Amino acid sequence: MSSLLSSAGNLFLSAARSSLSGDEKPGGSLKIGGSQLKLGGFRDSISEPAKGRTSIFKVAREPCRLIREFKDNETRKVEENSCGEDPFEELRHRFLSFKRHNCLDDAIHYQDLAQGQAPQFMVIACADSRVCPSKILGFQPGEAFTVRNIANLVPPFQHGASETSAALEFAVNSLEVPNILVVGHSRCGGIRALMSMKRENNSRSLISDWVSIAKSARLSTEAAAGNLSFEKQCSHCEKESLNGSLLNLLTYPWIEKRVSEGTLSLHGGYYDFVECTFEKWTLVYRDGLEGGSKYAIKNRFLWA
Ligand SMILES: [Zn+2]
Repeated sequence: MSSLLSSAGNLFLSAARSSLSGDEKPGGSLKIGGSQLKLGGFRDSISEPAKGRTSIFKVAREPCRLIREFKDNETRKVEENSCGEDPFEELRHRFLSFKRHNCLDDAIHYQDLAQGQAPQFMVIACADSRVCPSKILGFQPGEAFTVRNIANLVPPFQHGASETSAALEFAVNSLEVPNILVVGHSRCGGIRALMSMKRENNSRSLISDWVSIAKSARLSTEAAAGNLSFEKQCSHCEKESLNGSLLNLLTYPWIEKRVSEGTLSLHGGYYDFVECTFEKWTLVYRDGLEGGSKYAIKNRFLWA
């Protein structure tokens, strides 16, 4: 698999180099693992428009004139979307800027990264578009092995395979990350869905099935904060479920072993994007803690 990924990476880099130079060369080919891949086939098809029609390729350069030329209403809709509203055009510029200012300016570092990764963090964050760990915590490529899901939940080991448990297995057993950070956040829609679930509600959805992993957090929230407003209950549950996820990490035998040995640390983080603050804490797990418990929270800080 690694050679396949490597080949795909080389193909991607080759294509990106071509794009960066501004050379649009349709019709080339590339040989990968004995297979001759034709490049630019799609571009060929659009750079040679049918008689009476205009190339979509050309539209990007002369958008307004071309829109007038199209008579077919359906085609017109497609072209209007290409007329300055294509979100991928912005992404293309961002990528090429990233390439210039990162991959090329710091080529040695990025060539090292191409050989392998040794991240210091495994990060589990919510899929919410406002909660971007790389943006808010400044992770650079190679620094954080990251998985994002609805409500940043960690299912218990007994739950079986999921994208999160698979990512944990790779990060802990193969990459041997020294830190796992679970990042929760304010106004989490997944937690809101969890708190909205009625115990007797039989309606099922993929979202409700997923967030029900944190059902115990909802129940403990209702017990501890049931007299508060629904919004405040949700805020309470966001941290309650986060700590539940930290405890669920310890149900994975290879995580529990490394935490016990002191080679892996478990951390919680809570990003409040209303106040723009970040709270961070560490879950301690060992025998002989105060009160006879094996669990304790320490190193709790609020970054504000
Ligand atoms: Zn969320």
